[in-house]
Amino acid sequence: MKAWERVEEGKRQGRGKRKGRDRMEVDEVVCLPRLPRVAVCGGTHGNELSGVYLVREMLKEEKKVMEKEEGEPLSVLIVLSNPRAMQQCRRYTDTDLNRCFTHAKLNGPIPDDAPYEIIRSRELNAMLGPKGNPEAVDLVCDLHNTTANMGLCFIAYSDCDWICLHIFRYLQASTNSSHSLKNLKLRVTCHFQKQMPDVPMRYIHFDISNKESYSLDSVGKHGFAMEIGPQPHGVVRSNIYTTMEVGVQHMLDWVRIFNSGTIFEGGCVDVFTLIKHIDFPETARLETSQQPFILKSRTETSACSTLKTHCSRPSQVKL
Ligand SMILES: [Zn+2]
Repeated sequence: MKAWERVEEGKRQGRGKRKGRDRMEVDEVVCLPRLPRVAVCGGTHGNELSGVYLVREMLKEEKKVMEKEEGEPLSVLIVLSNPRAMQQCRRYTDTDLNRCFTHAKLNGPIPDDAPYEIIRSRELNAMLGPKGNPEAVDLVCDLHNTTANMGLCFIAYSDCDWICLHIFRYLQASTNSSHSLKNLKLRVTCHFQKQMPDVPMRYIHFDISNKESYSLDSVGKHGFAMEIGPQPHGVVRSNIYTTMEVGVQHMLDWVRIFNSGTIFEGGCVDVFTLIKHIDFPETARLETSQQPFILKSRTETSACSTLKTHCSRPSQVKL
C-alpha cells in the first residue's frame, strides 16, 4: 500500500518565488528546447493491454502519420517494450522490466544467463537513450494499466519538470469544457473535437534521483508513465482504451504545438508525492475502524512556469 501526503514547501525544488504556504508562484518565462523525438511505449508490462493494443494500432497508422507531417518534423518512436511477456500475457517473464532502468542495472556487468528483461532493458536503453545522455529521446510516454480505480495518472520522478506538468495540465483542461481550454489561453486553433472522456486525473511524483529511477520512462530527457485504471490485467475495456488513446493524441498534439513556438501560460497542478509504503494489515480480522491504507490528498499546487520553445530563430517564437 502506498501513502501520500502534502509536499512540504521546503522539500520542493522549484525555481520560483513562493507566495503562501504551499503555493509556488513562478513569474519567469522558461525557454526549453524543442522536443523533436518522442517515444510512446506499450507492453512494458505484458498483461496491461490498453497500451499493447494502442501501440499496435499506432504502428499500423505510423506510415499515414509520417505522410501527414507538415512543418517541423516530429519523430514518434512507437515501441512494444516487452514482446515476450506480451506473447504470454504476463507482467514479465523473468523479472520486472520496469525495474531494470537504474544506472547500476543498465551499466553493470551482464552474465551469460541474464534474465530476458535485463537484456531487453539494455536494448531499449540503446534504442531510446542512453539514459542521461544528450542523445536520448526528448520525451518518453510509457503506457500502463492498473486494476485500481485511479483514473488517468501521470507518474514521474520530478515535480518541477515543466514539460510533463504542462502536458498534464493540457490533458486536464481537455477533460473539462472548451471553456477551460480557452482559459488556458492556448494559441491553438481547435482541439475541442477531441475531448477527453470525463475521467479523474492525478499527477503522482516519486521523489527518486535520476540514477536510482528504475522505470522505462526515466530513459528519456523527459518522461512519465501514463497509468489508467480500473482495468483487470489481460483484458481491454473500451472506455479505458479510449481514454488512453485520446490521452496520447493530446500529448502528441501538445508536443507539436510546443514545437511550433507556442507560448504556454503558467498555472497550477496538484501533485501527489509518495512518502512511504504501509503494509496491508495481516491480522485475521480487520476492525471496521482500521484504515487499510492512508491516502492524504495534496490539495495545493505545484506551479508551471510560463513555457516557450527555445529557438535560435526568434520569428518562430513569436507565433
Ligand atoms: Zn504497469
